[in-house]
Amino acid sequence: MKTLVWVEHDGQSVKDATYAAITAAGKLGEVELLVAGQGVDGVAQTAAQIAGVAKVLVADDAAYAHNLAENVAPLVVELMGSHDAFVAAATTTGKNIAPRVAALLDVMQISEILSVEGPDSFTRPIYAGNAIATVKTSDAKLVLTVRGTAFDKAEATGGSAAVEAVTSTGDKGVSKFVGAEIAASERPELTSAKIIVSGGRALGSEEQFHALIDPLADKLNAAVGASRAAVDAGYAPNDYQVGQTGKIVAPEVYIAVGISGAIQHLAGMKDSKVIVAINKDEDAPIFQVADVGLVGDLFTVVPELTAKL
Ligand SMILES: Cc1cc2nc3c(=O)[nH]c(=O)nc-3n(C[C@H](O)[C@H](O)[C@H](O)COP(=O)(O)OP(=O)(O)OC[C@H]3O[C@@H](n4cnc5c(N)ncnc54)[C@H](O)[C@@H]3O)c2cc1C
Repeated sequence: MKTLVWVEHDGQSVKDATYAAITAAGKLGEVELLVAGQGVDGVAQTAAQIAGVAKVLVADDAAYAHNLAENVAPLVVELMGSHDAFVAAATTTGKNIAPRVAALLDVMQISEILSVEGPDSFTRPIYAGNAIATVKTSDAKLVLTVRGTAFDKAEATGGSAAVEAVTSTGDKGVSKFVGAEIAASERPELTSAKIIVSGGRALGSEEQFHALIDPLADKLNAAVGASRAAVDAGYAPNDYQVGQTGKIVAPEVYIAVGISGAIQHLAGMKDSKVIVAINKDEDAPIFQVADVGLVGDLFTVVPELTAKL
C-alpha cells in the first residue's frame, strides 16, 4: 500500500505531530510525504531525512502558503490517483484538510486512529475516549487522521528520500488568508511539552490564573494548559484548552490545579504518564485518575510548592 502523509510545517520546521503520523503510515506500507507551501525547499530537505520515507513530493506555490484547506485538499485528491491512503495528524489544520479530501474522494474518514490493526482496520476513541472502537473499512482509498500521542515519533534522521516537485492545482479562489495572530511564548508548546501545568475554574480570574499557574510552570519549564471552564471564563486563551474539544496531550507530568476532572477534560490528558492533582475537594473525580493527589486550597499550596521548587 502506498500512503501519502501531509507534512504540517511553519515554513521552517516539521511539526511534531507529523512524525507520529509518519510512524502510523509506515504500518500500512510505503510512505511518501507531501510538503505544500511557498518557499519550502528547507522543509522538503528536512522531510527527506526522516527515517522510513520513500519520497517527498513538493508543491511550491503561493496558493499553499497559508495551508488553506480549500487549496490543499484538491492537490491531495490529484495525488491520490497514485496513492492508496492519505494520512494527516489530527491537529487543527490536519482536521481541516482531511475531511475535505475524504468528501472529494467520496470515502469515509477514519478519525484520530490509535492503532493500525491491519490494512483496513484501525482503532479509534469514541464517547470522549471512554470506549475504543475497531473500525474496518471497505473503501478503495483510505483517509485517516492520527492521534499524535498514540504513536512514537518517526526518527528525524536516517532517511534519504528522493525529492520530487509536483504541479500545483492552484488557488481555488473560495477562501483567502486575511491574517494570523499567533501568541508568542517562551514556554514549550502544549502538545509536545514534557510537563504541563493546567488551571481550572477555581483560579477565579485571569489575574489569579497567571499569578499562580505561570510561576509554577516557569519553575518546571512546563507548558500552561487550562480547562474549558477556565477558557470560557476568559482566564486563559482558547489555545490553552485541554480536552475533548481542546488539545490532546500526554506529557511525562500533568499537574491539574483546581480542575474537577470532568470526562471531557480527562479525554484530553488521561494518557499522561504521571498525573498530579491539586483540589480542595477530596471527592473530586480528578483524584480517580491522579497518581499523586494533594487535597488543599490551591491559593495556599501552589505558591508554597512554587517557592519550594
Ligand atoms: C461537548 C463538551 C465538550 C467539552 N470539552 C471540554 C474540554 O475540551 N476540556 C475541558 O476541560 N472541559 C470540557 N468540557 C467541559 C467539562 O464538562 C467541564 O465543565 C469542565 O472541564 C470543568 O472545568 P473545571 O474542572 O475547571 O471546573 P469545575 O468543574 O467547576 O471544577 C473546579 C474544581 O476546583 C476545585 N476548587 C475550587 N476552589 C478550589 C481551591 N481554592 N483550591 C483547590 N481546588 C478548588 C473544586 O473542588 C472543583 O473540583 C466540555 C463539555 C461538553 C459538554
